[in-house]
Amino acid sequence: MIRTSGQELIAAGIGQIYVHGVREDSANIVISSVTTDSRHAGEGSAFVAIKGERVDGHDFVGSLDGAVLAVVDHLIEGTPIPQLLVDDTVKALGDIARLNIEKRRMYAQRGMNEFTVIGITGSVGKTTTKDMLSAVLSQLAPTVAPQGSFNNNIGLPLTALEVDEKTRFFVAEMGASAVGEIAYLTTIARPDISIVLKVGVAHLGGFGSVEHIRDAKAEIVRALTTNGVAILNADDENVRTMAQMTKASSIIWFSRADEQLQPKPATSTAVSSVILRGTNTELDDFNRPKFSITLPDGSHFNLRLGIAGEHNVYNALAVLSVVYSLDIPEHIAASVLSHMESISEHRMHMASVQVEDAHFTVIDDSFNANPDSMRAGLNALSTLHADDKDIYRVAVIGSMLELGVTEEEAHREIGLYASTHANEVIAVGSPTDENLMRLARCISEGASLSQTSHVHLVSDTDEAHELVMQCAHEHKCVVLLKGSHASGLSALAARWLGNA
Ligand code: ATP
Repeated sequence: MIRTSGQELIAAGIGQIYVHGVREDSANIVISSVTTDSRHAGEGSAFVAIKGERVDGHDFVGSLDGAVLAVVDHLIEGTPIPQLLVDDTVKALGDIARLNIEKRRMYAQRGMNEFTVIGITGSVGKTTTKDMLSAVLSQLAPTVAPQGSFNNNIGLPLTALEVDEKTRFFVAEMGASAVGEIAYLTTIARPDISIVLKVGVAHLGGFGSVEHIRDAKAEIVRALTTNGVAILNADDENVRTMAQMTKASSIIWFSRADEQLQPKPATSTAVSSVILRGTNTELDDFNRPKFSITLPDGSHFNLRLGIAGEHNVYNALAVLSVVYSLDIPEHIAASVLSHMESISEHRMHMASVQVEDAHFTVIDDSFNANPDSMRAGLNALSTLHADDKDIYRVAVIGSMLELGVTEEEAHREIGLYASTHANEVIAVGSPTDENLMRLARCISEGASLSQTSHVHLVSDTDEAHELVMQCAHEHKCVVLLKGSHASGLSALAARWLGNA
């Protein structure tokens, strides 16, 4: 972060500083990092005490070592560490992060190093796109991007606090489970370029309707100023309407459709509205897409992604749109994307494994799941080594959470989809969580409808493991692991890949 004094925090209205219980407006404090984890509170850091479900950060203020400031919502007695007293420590974290980004912008306005914030949202693909984009941009200049999917009201500010004087690009992932959350994140780091990947039914439970999801995602383009650039998926009807919801004078559409098939983009007030296309996709033996890109100026080139999954074509097109808007030579992006073989953990990670005495291929996509990403994972399962007729395809799938009233229907649909894309469907529930078990039952009911695959309903990952081992002894198997985080499939991935 950019070094910040206690006086700056007070002047920004974030709180008041107390030393030994006495208000000290002129305390001589300078912070150079911020953390919410007391174990990482080193020299020059501010520790923000956050109340979690199980732990309250305020309990650690008394034992801080090295921190120069504790941000608290009530004063802790008996500690020499100065305390910034605020009403709400999570909000204060956002306020300190906003101050950091404002200071960085001020440096840019004074002619020091340019600075660009790129915000990414969508129901699926945010983390993958963020990983791809930061891999490209960091080849060119200092880039800050979150680890994993730090995309909420704690993760985004913590990442924004990594921005310093030298940072050229800040790639900000913005997630939401309710209307207003992305709007809040954009007040901390207002994007200069906003990407909307897709409006799906992820987290429908929190939103109630797809329109609310659309409105929530649109907050990222509403935050753009007239100098901003909106990068929008032209193939998603809900994203198309966002052209009318932004002041941005430049829109870059991305699409996988041929020109003739393209629905007409919505009219907008944008001065410039251009389209970048990715067409003629082919998948190689490892499910890596190769496709042809047509830039808005009409020039073409071919790209083969290093990572697997046809759905990643959309994520790559969004990245190439940013590259185009920033005038970066596309061969730089193409080279990075074609050599990038992995993204954040448990997302489309493929590996051949030897587990006990069995050998099989795993597609570990176990980080999380919603209907869009489930279908994408199952598509990958059914197309990997498509020419090899001996391959036996096993879908080990768990529940998808936060889908609201449509959840049972969505699980039956996915079950049916799985059974037409796999030889064996293993629906994984939980021995202790009736909700996960009920949803797994819906998957197996849906899968049984088609009568095209063997279907099993199991209550834990050990049973799934045993079934996969049986398959792997009898067949040449590819196994997909896919489910919401709660379904525990990432532990099964770790068990297998740890043995790789
Ligand atoms: P979350 O909000 O759960 O963190 P996310 O939006 O960050 O998700 P990723 O983590 O990139 O998305 O991917 C989540 C899952 O969706 C992975 O299984 C990935 O393979 C799949 N996925 C990624 N991009 C797409 C896409 N464009 N269409 C469908 N599925 C996708």
